Amino acid sequence: MSDTLRQELLDIFVGRATRRYGLSAVNQLQHALQAAALAEADDAPPATVLASLLHDVGHMIHGLGEDPAARGLDDQHEELGATWLAERFDAGVSEPVRMHVAAKRYLCAVEPDYFGKLSPDSVRSLGLQGGPMSADEVEDFRRNPLYAEAVRLRRYDEAAKDPRTNTPDFDHFLRHVATCRRV
Ligand code: FE
Repeated sequence: MSDTLRQELLDIFVGRATRRYGLSAVNQLQHALQAAALAEADDAPPATVLASLLHDVGHMIHGLGEDPAARGLDDQHEELGATWLAERFDAGVSEPVRMHVAAKRYLCAVEPDYFGKLSPDSVRSLGLQGGPMSADEVEDFRRNPLYAEAVRLRRYDEAAKDPRTNTPDFDHFLRHVATCRRV
């Protein structure tokens, strides 16, 4: 991978990601590393591991200040992040990121006990993001060939908020970049 891309990712994730992740006890970097580690442990494809690592890049580049959700703002980080990623990686990385908020709305609609498992910040943002999907939205969502990867990413995301977990470092996951670069 190019040193420029590595440096750009490190600047964002190691340089800026020490702010707290929403209401949880982990910071953005720990959250990113835990999500990627969960993906790897689950034998997810390389693109999904990278998508898990980078899924919240939109939170880091939105310029809305810290914790916009506390001010009732949806930062639309999934769109912003996916657009940023699509300039650098293939669709296997950017599309699950674009859909990871929709995947939460999807799971709330199709799994009766999912809502009860959400962390307080996920519940708070769900309202801003449109609440559970309607039946039509569920059908549409399933038409996307990458919807299952988005759902996986969403489960890693939700589980990646444990302040006691140890993970590999950022560079460990960057070895997947070479196979997922945009051509
Ligand atoms: Fe997240």
